[in-house]
Amino acid sequence: MRVLICGAGIAGLTLAWHLERAGWEVELVERAPAFREGGYMIDFYGAGYEIARRMGIDGRLREVGYQINELRYVDRHGRRTSGARVPSGFDRLVSLLRVDLARAIADGVHAKIWYGTGVAAVDRHEDGVEVRLTDGTHREVDLLVGADGAHSVVRGLAFGSEERFERYLGHHVAAYVIADERLSEQIGMRYQMLTVPGSMAGAYALRGGRLALLFLRREPDPALPADPAAALRDHFGPLGWILPEVLDRVPADLYYDQVTQIEIERWSRGRVVLVGDACQAVSLFAGHGASLGMAAAWVLADELTGEPVDGRAADLAAALDRYQRRMRPVIAETQAFGRRFIEWLAPSSGLRIVMRDWLLRLAALPGADRLFLRSLTPGGHRLITGGRA
Ligand SMILES: Cc1cc2nc3c(=O)[nH]c(=O)nc-3n(C[C@H](O)[C@H](O)[C@H](O)COP(=O)(O)OP(=O)(O)OC[C@H]3O[C@@H](n4cnc5c(N)ncnc54)[C@H](O)[C@@H]3O)c2cc1C
Repeated sequence: MRVLICGAGIAGLTLAWHLERAGWEVELVERAPAFREGGYMIDFYGAGYEIARRMGIDGRLREVGYQINELRYVDRHGRRTSGARVPSGFDRLVSLLRVDLARAIADGVHAKIWYGTGVAAVDRHEDGVEVRLTDGTHREVDLLVGADGAHSVVRGLAFGSEERFERYLGHHVAAYVIADERLSEQIGMRYQMLTVPGSMAGAYALRGGRLALLFLRREPDPALPADPAAALRDHFGPLGWILPEVLDRVPADLYYDQVTQIEIERWSRGRVVLVGDACQAVSLFAGHGASLGMAAAWVLADELTGEPVDGRAADLAAALDRYQRRMRPVIAETQAFGRRFIEWLAPSSGLRIVMRDWLLRLAALPGADRLFLRSLTPGGHRLITGGRA
């Protein structure tokens, strides 16, 4: 079977990893001109962590990742206002740069990745897909996979325009990494955040004297600003703390986007299927999109490469249906959870900030910490235990 995967991100690479081991002929196209560096920190746990363990990369993720031991809220002078210790003993939770997760998966993928390339046109027919790439070449494949993220071009070409599927969550998000030994040491192995109603800025220290920064702000208009770096400086610079300093050094590879969820009725049309954020973006408010992207890729590969029934090769359409049926309930649950979590991550008022601080104190009580962590992964375990495998 020949498959073309558009998008060499978390979901696309995981799918390639599994399909090529099942004997499929796999090719990937990736819009970025080379392996994507930079980016943002993610907390990695739940179903995706279990998949990583089965792929044998969990040890490496722990090596390149971080164990954050404290969440700390600070004021404009950097003084602690509230926070919580992160309980120890969660050996299946690691914080790491998204790029480090992608690289750990990519190192096990042998398929050719065509960088600087995307999908330009899709022609579906009954038993295959003809794909025209942006470099002018063509591919005739049994299956085309759109793993090209929340703003998927494959989805646009085969399913319809983005407005039909996106649910804007009323916020813009930005993230980048800078090198600064002094600030990195000052922040230390704790996740420090400053919140004012409607805005949140956070900083993590990374090895090598680096600092990962995250900005979240309430914005009724989903349209992105013409100059995202200037918009960030204008909005967050006056809030104090380390912000004026770090906002003077916004790099060219700044990540800036709207916060959205993607809701789409059908995840496949004929021989075109979507995986990861392209069909199931849960948003950073839900917290484990990368984990669910890996889980979705695993479930899809699991269904596609099932043992032949009665000597006949697996029916592709039926496999794609089963994939969607296994994934969608968990995604719907997680998206609903993400929407409820908005007020906790980016409180809209002073009262909400006070309530969040109380919740943090409760979460730190013995026993509550584990319940709290479990509540962050609604239904994810079902994906691994409830399937065919
Ligand atoms: C700030 C932030 C914090 C987050 N925190 C967490 C967290 O704590 N835990 C967690 O698990 N998840 C987190 N997430 C979510 C997580 O990063 C995503 O859900 C995950 O990366 C989705 O994987 P994906 O493979 O579907 O998409 P992506 O990882 O976005 O990969 C898509 C790939 O497709 C490529 N591409 C795009 N368009 C095209 C095109 N036209 N042609 C070819 N290639 C294309 C892109 O360059 C990219 O390489 C966070 C997200 C953000 C933005």
